[in-house]
Amino acid sequence: MPASAHHQRVLIYAASGARLEALKEALVGIGMRGLRAEASIEGSLQEARPDGAIVDASVSPASALALCRELLKATSNDLPILLILAAGDTCTLSHARSLGVREFAEHPSTPEVLALRFQGLLRAETAIELPETDRRTADAGGRDGLTGLSNRPSFLEGMDAVIARARAAGHMAALLYLDIDRFKAVNDALGHAAGDVLLQHVARILEDQVRATDLVHAGGSVMLSDASRLGGDEFTVLLSKVSQPEHAGDVARRILLAMRDPIFADGYQLAATASIGIAIFPQDGHDPETLLRCADLAMYAAKAEGRGRYRFYRPSMGALHHRRLEVEQHLRGALERNELAVHYQPRVDLGADEICAVEALVRWHSPALGEVQPREFIPIAEESGLIVSIGDWVLETACHQLHRWREEGLEALRLSVNISSRQFASCDVLRTVTDILRRTRVEPHALELEVTERLMLGADEGTALALRDLRGIGVTIALDDFGTGYSSLSSITRYPLDVLKIDRSIAAEVEADPAAESIVSAIVTLARSLGLGVVAEGVDAPGQAHVLMRLGCEELQGFLVTPALDADALAAFCRDWRGIAECTGPDATSDIG
Ligand code: C2E
Ligand code: MG
Ligand code: MG
Repeated sequence: MPASAHHQRVLIYAASGARLEALKEALVGIGMRGLRAEASIEGSLQEARPDGAIVDASVSPASALALCRELLKATSNDLPILLILAAGDTCTLSHARSLGVREFAEHPSTPEVLALRFQGLLRAETAIELPETDRRTADAGGRDGLTGLSNRPSFLEGMDAVIARARAAGHMAALLYLDIDRFKAVNDALGHAAGDVLLQHVARILEDQVRATDLVHAGGSVMLSDASRLGGDEFTVLLSKVSQPEHAGDVARRILLAMRDPIFADGYQLAATASIGIAIFPQDGHDPETLLRCADLAMYAAKAEGRGRYRFYRPSMGALHHRRLEVEQHLRGALERNELAVHYQPRVDLGADEICAVEALVRWHSPALGEVQPREFIPIAEESGLIVSIGDWVLETACHQLHRWREEGLEALRLSVNISSRQFASCDVLRTVTDILRRTRVEPHALELEVTERLMLGADEGTALALRDLRGIGVTIALDDFGTGYSSLSSITRYPLDVLKIDRSIAAEVEADPAAESIVSAIVTLARSLGLGVVAEGVDAPGQAHVLMRLGCEELQGFLVTPALDADALAAFCRDWRGIAECTGPDATSDIG
């Protein structure tokens, strides 16, 4: 690759002429030259002899991917490419990764940022280049310079050969796709030297396992395996013959086991884990690209299920992935298209036998997908960052509504709103909340924010301070879904809280399961000693209500009272309220204790 930065040439495939010009200008700013990618790849490459390419896949991903494939093919995978993706387009991301693209940026990014990212990519590529002589042997041997494993081109070649042989002989082959968990964090925190040691360590583990596999299974069930590093922290193990898919699972299990030993890298002791996805030829695919994509999807599933594990590819992973993308795509813009609404579920104060508060719950009716449940779209909104604007909108809409209700005579009604951890992480919550309260003329003490234990567990100083500040202005804080596995007593005492909301899974079991009953009674005791209120949520049967009241829960929320209602129906419900006995049967109030 030509070296001098002043002459570095960058092929650009942009979504519009304007974006092309902006990028060119930004590249000039760092001493590079941008060239428009021609329709003919051959022509582009021969004339331009580029050092790399910036390809915008945010508008038409399919043609951008086709271009990447051609560019990589024509250069034997030797062209660094920065791919620009529409935010959240994980489908194109995983496809591009399977082609060999290793650097990505989200649209919209400023041209300056893109240019700098690209410069970083070129630096990284040249940094791992070996001295000229070594490089030649490395290339000749199809080896990865850092780890000595097969590199991507030789992996792809090997895979073609393995598939051809398996097809001819009529046996199965397996592809294991391994990705180190949180590798970027290690690299960023401990530096590239430590990152390199970790990569080399993983490579040795794979080599050992491959060798062991060949020895143990020389009798015929598994043979002729090979380990490769595709780039970054992605590795593959190719098992050229397996008599049962489970044998590939055995290999994966041994790799994960070997990774448990601590590693000493650059003066640090690391405990790294990895996630592995497995695809089987021929059941999951007949060509390298498909198998890689399947193994990649399975690897993502392993990560989603908690990392440090392996998963076989299942067609449902593709469908789930597809549904996720579909939901995300339609959720983008749902706010602007007025597809969201807020419904309100009342909370009953058992002592006063009154509706004391309502919880705001977002609802989404998508013209394309129909009614989508918050349990499905809220996690997607959180992952894609959309939750910040949705959450602000819910807060503002619900506060407006509360103000209206209070003017209409429901003066004592309070409001509780769910706040996601992303809202804490990405913006100034205190500012947002005070602004909204001021605009909607709602007093702070009428508002409660519901946060989850997960927020508390991952909480940093900033979150604790934000919670404290919010409480400082009079807003109360409730810990939602309490008692569901993440329970950490220290987080309850460490962070400022006012209310514990007992998760609905506990309410559901409290009638039948004595263990659930003792959990509730422990929570009530704990809450009392810390001076916190206790709300039972998800109460949907009279029997549950009786037990919860007897155990000392102060407030109750659930289908037994009513599901969430729209604003008008909620106001009517409050006016017609005749007491909890209407819901639980006549003997319930005597249970309050
Ligand atoms: P959550 O905050 O724990 O809300 C309570 C959920 O339990 C609501 O589901 C409610 O409809 C449901 N529920 C209430 N009573 C019963 C019952 O008796 N039986 C059963 N089976 N379920 C009951 P929903 O509305 O589907 O919301 C699910 C979750 O989505 C919420 O759980 C919350 O974590 C999240 N969510 C909803 N709206 C928002 C929002 O505006 N912002 C954020 N960040 N999260 C939200
Ligand atoms: Mg809640
Ligand atoms: Mg809850």
